[in-house]
Amino acid sequence: MYVRPGPSHAASLQEIDDRYVWHPFTQAKNAPTPHVFERGEGARLYDDRAHGVLDLIASWWVNLHGHAHPAIAAAISEQANRLEHVLFAGAAHPPAIQYARELVAHLHPPLERVFYSDDGSTAVEAALKIALQYWQNRGTARKRILAFDGGYHGDTFGAMSVGRGSAFFIPFTPWLLSVDLLPYATSAPETVEDAEEAALARLDRYLDEHGDELAACILEPLVQGAGGMRMARPAFVRAVAERVRMRGTLVIFDEVFTGFGRTGTLFAYEQVGFVPDLLCVAKGITGGFLPLAATIATPAIYEAFLDDRFERALLHGHSFTANPLGCAAARCSLELFAQENTFERIAAISAVHRAELQHLARIPSVTDPRSTGTIAAFEANVAPPQMRAFVRLAYERGLLLRPLGSTVYLVPPYCITPDELRYAYATIASLLAETPA
Ligand SMILES: *Cc1c(COP(=O)(O)O)cnc(C)c1O
Repeated sequence: MYVRPGPSHAASLQEIDDRYVWHPFTQAKNAPTPHVFERGEGARLYDDRAHGVLDLIASWWVNLHGHAHPAIAAAISEQANRLEHVLFAGAAHPPAIQYARELVAHLHPPLERVFYSDDGSTAVEAALKIALQYWQNRGTARKRILAFDGGYHGDTFGAMSVGRGSAFFIPFTPWLLSVDLLPYATSAPETVEDAEEAALARLDRYLDEHGDELAACILEPLVQGAGGMRMARPAFVRAVAERVRMRGTLVIFDEVFTGFGRTGTLFAYEQVGFVPDLLCVAKGITGGFLPLAATIATPAIYEAFLDDRFERALLHGHSFTANPLGCAAARCSLELFAQENTFERIAAISAVHRAELQHLARIPSVTDPRSTGTIAAFEANVAPPQMRAFVRLAYERGLLLRPLGSTVYLVPPYCITPDELRYAYATIASLLAETPA
């Protein structure tokens, strides 16, 4: 066996990482050395210097109840000792069956049929494939897909195609599916009404022209996450969804980010007041422990796939579909909402966000402070080198941040205390006040 010479055994983990690992969404040429985290507890992560930081990005928006939560860890351990994995075609297992029922009990009718997969992108791919095949199975020529500016839906090709408005996918533009992209309305309060009116007028014109050809419309209700924490008003989202449904089109809500309490209710669609035909969930589903996702459909959609012909079935699945460890974690995470009065914590976080953003708005470089539930964001109008210095200094003072361009956001785990969150704001305020614009 050939063993390639590499860093010596005395090399630090950072050196080994630098030599062998390719990180996501990272320009390795100039990115700062990654933090190596060795431990997590509650809202804090501890790096290899045992330096603790508040995880204000909930580890890319997946963590709900805190790191290394003992109940979820125990649920996974117990399941791992019983059955770690089994295929999910022609087979099932207790955690996936039970979780489907428990999840549906928290959803509004007619959402009731759970299709499992393993990541947000795959939940979106499944939703798009379900929508397209639904119309094909029914013999109706609806082929168009509608998505919106600023939307992000994942990194696989279908998901990139509907998320092209987020500008992350420029190298792949020639290979993306053709998707219709319309303007959306998320902006500063003084202009939002005009923007909403213009977006709805544009949508009406589009639907008059193509409404009969439209298979599906996909959007992130209330908050466009990766597009820059762009927040929309519930009535606007409802107006969009209702107009699209009026034309007989399937409405897909991508709640991969907004699901599981992030916006203040278990799902954002509750505040919108509109139950979609397909709902995509992932990220927080296991409390941030394991990859798992689900696309939940209505019975009308499910029934369109029932046929004597095999090819009418939904021919989609992944090796780790409905992984039992993930389903066990998801069951436990859902139970924790009741056991830990999580919605009280969420309300407390929302209140701190609202109060502290008002203080922060007095800093000259801060504009467009906004929040929806546990999601807070603002624009920091500083040059990129200043932003990098701000992030580094915040880390030294115990805050893990990862701005999206000029957008600084706080999406903490729900176990963060109001005092910890206020400390985060005070630290951000003092650093930004010292940062030259
Ligand atoms: C993160 C995200 C996705 C993609 O999820 P992955 O698990 O990263 O594949 C899809 N939609 C939204 C709204 C997201 O925020």
